[in-house]
Amino acid sequence: MRLATAEINLTALAHNLAQVKRFAPNSKVMAVLKANAYGHGLVKIAQHLNDADAFAVARIDEALALRAGGLTKPIVLLEGFFNKDDLPILLANNFQTIIHDEYQLAALEEAELEAPLLCWLKVNTGMHRLGIAPEQFDEFYKRLQKTPNANNTVNLMTHFACADDVNNTKTVQQISQFDCLVNNINQAHCLSNSAGIIAWPNAHGDWVRPGLMLYGVSPMANALGEQHQLKPVMRLTTRVIAVRHVPANEAVGYGGRWKSDKATQLAVVAMGYGDGYPRHAKEGTPVVIGKQRYGIVGSVAMDMISVDIGQNEHNIKVGDRVTMWGPELPVEEIAQCADTIPYELLCNITPRVSYEYQ
Ligand code: PLP
Repeated sequence: MRLATAEINLTALAHNLAQVKRFAPNSKVMAVLKANAYGHGLVKIAQHLNDADAFAVARIDEALALRAGGLTKPIVLLEGFFNKDDLPILLANNFQTIIHDEYQLAALEEAELEAPLLCWLKVNTGMHRLGIAPEQFDEFYKRLQKTPNANNTVNLMTHFACADDVNNTKTVQQISQFDCLVNNINQAHCLSNSAGIIAWPNAHGDWVRPGLMLYGVSPMANALGEQHQLKPVMRLTTRVIAVRHVPANEAVGYGGRWKSDKATQLAVVAMGYGDGYPRHAKEGTPVVIGKQRYGIVGSVAMDMISVDIGQNEHNIKVGDRVTMWGPELPVEEIAQCADTIPYELLCNITPRVSYEYQ
């Protein structure tokens, strides 16, 4: 038995996809599965998203892993391709590519492909990461329509920078800039990530691109998944491997960074940054043992964390299960305690953690 385990609730996953469709009933769904399906297991998650219309990943290797796993749905490459030599691989595997830059369009025009690729032209409306400038739109669109290497259907995409903040007018500007450019073009439009799906109904378009919300986690600042009727898919657990008494004023752990002002008991749990738990989780970050919350103390080490269980009224003992995050302990809350975002915690799960799909 491996101690650190990510329990993956596939019923919750299906529920969350259904919830995406309740938010955006008229849009097709491109399920975002990059970074090992946000740490949930790429192929396994994809196998349980039958109701998605397509998958989206960042890189070609991720898309090839989906094909190797037997997945046949369309796959969109959100970073597109980097090398011209990749184009035949895209074609052979029925991958769709983003075009976000001149070098990609030039490579596509120069290639000699046996059939056209389906392309998504990505426009930068304010994220300033990937995407062509709005002023380049007409030229790129025409060139894509002209090259025999691109399908005549050229779909259109943009990405939001601040959709998780409902008061941020940047999203309003991004939506209106995108609409102005593409309104008269009768091709598929795709704007929204999870935050767009939840908070910006006028930006649902023909396709939506949910990532985080599929995994039951809120993309909105200071909110929990349950506020959007989402169910957490992952529960990260481990076991207590020691219970020890420490006297008052005795420094605990690396660097002796924590001392109790009174005699107490510590549960040592098998979880650390070697499993992906954040090293910077602050003192008092909760874990759940039994039905109670307790706070971590001292430094998070590679393999272990100490938890202050006081006088151990609930008789915690070696072998007891510990939840680091999950339905009873939202990962959004742990992210706040570690001064990071839930995306990072989920993606950081390491290969040492075993997966149980339920
Ligand atoms: N679309 C693009 C281009 C992305 O990069 C991402 C993820 O970062 C998503 C959609 C999904 O975002 P989220 O996980 O916030 O739904």
